[in-house]
Amino acid sequence: MSALFSRRGLLRAAMLSPLVCRARAARVSRVLKPVHVSLDRVIRTIAGLRPFRPSGFVVRGQNIDGKVIVHNYGHGGAGITLSWGTAHLAALEAVRTHYRDAAVIGGGVSGLTAARILLERGFRVTIYAREFATNTTSGVAGGQWFPFTFYDPEKLTREVEEQFVQAARYAYNRYQTLVGSYYGIRWLTNYQMSNKPLPANGLMSRTGPMAGMMPEYANLPRGSHPFPFRYARQFDTMFIEPPVYLETMMSEVRLAGAGIENREFHDTAEMLALPQKLIVNCTGLEAKSLFQDEELTPIKGQLSILLPQSEVDYATLPPELYMFPRKDGIVLGGTHERGVWDTSPEEKEVTRILTGHRAIFEKLGRTSV
Ligand SMILES: Cc1cc2nc3c(=O)[nH]c(=O)nc-3n(C[C@H](O)[C@H](O)[C@H](O)COP(=O)(O)OP(=O)(O)OC[C@H]3O[C@@H](n4cnc5c(N)ncnc54)[C@H](O)[C@@H]3O)c2cc1C
Repeated sequence: MSALFSRRGLLRAAMLSPLVCRARAARVSRVLKPVHVSLDRVIRTIAGLRPFRPSGFVVRGQNIDGKVIVHNYGHGGAGITLSWGTAHLAALEAVRTHYRDAAVIGGGVSGLTAARILLERGFRVTIYAREFATNTTSGVAGGQWFPFTFYDPEKLTREVEEQFVQAARYAYNRYQTLVGSYYGIRWLTNYQMSNKPLPANGLMSRTGPMAGMMPEYANLPRGSHPFPFRYARQFDTMFIEPPVYLETMMSEVRLAGAGIENREFHDTAEMLALPQKLIVNCTGLEAKSLFQDEELTPIKGQLSILLPQSEVDYATLPPELYMFPRKDGIVLGGTHERGVWDTSPEEKEVTRILTGHRAIFEKLGRTSV
């Protein structure tokens, strides 16, 4: 265990956290409205590739042929979550140079957020990308604010661990200023559940690096919840609706003066031929071939979206599955196929996801939590 995640470090973090700064309020009991799960309610099934690196994301500067490339890629299943934080770290690299005219490569969440932060800091920005906003992997994301699946615990480097803690905190604070329908962000309660005891350490624990970023965290005693699992836990997180959020970010960078160019780069040389001396690389999984990053690998994720149900105002996280309610539909997910490059949805996963969720929601609506 590193110094940052050490007992003393975590205790210090916990002392600053709202979890211990105020007395814990009594939980308000409520009836959860069930999701109606059936094949004829599926409005679309989509799949995308999480840009995963076992040792964690890359945010760093690199000098090549008289230009500075600031990399910001490889966020795995946490690109939406960490975007403001890693864009902030990338901007710190950018301000260290004396260049104030930046080319941002990538129109997904990482590129749009990097562009926005650079514009806020007075840079001239042009965004170059083959696809923008909802047409990227970012447009496929479920949209929960929580850093899932972005490193292998035994491979995470000390450097990224430090960057991660900084990025998560920055992003957590920044997203809170954007809550509302304009950006498509709201707070919801998550219910995590399992037949095995839920981990008392790690990311989803009261003492891990996310302590203080999971309000109303509580383990639910057996018999006090309606889920067909032995153990259950609740905590609140923000939910970002990618279709709304990405289009709003796109308009915001345009309004702030960013140039937008639809362009594909076939290699690094084409990027280096751009007029800007400062290039921010937010190409997600494609950084693998563009910058020969052998570590980058896809983790395929598939989602089935059901007809919207406005009365569903909570999220569920059972083992190997998840449900996020959004305005454009109820998102059912839970696939993580490492090393798979094919983005076609698979029938057997649709069946697994629907069957698993149906079993959970059958009991809701009758018992309160
Ligand atoms: C099923 C699923 C669910 C997910 N759920 C969540 C979630 O709930 N919360 C969360 O935080 N994250 C989630 N993620 C992860 C998240 O979607 C990614 O981490 C994030 O989208 C990465 O964003 P990005 O901008 O780095 O890359 P991308 O969105 O892939 O954008 C890359 C950009 O670079 C451009 N580009 C690439 N190569 C070139 C080139 N050669 N020339 C020109 N342009 C190029 C592309 O056109 C695109 O504009 C999920 C992912 C999947 C697949």
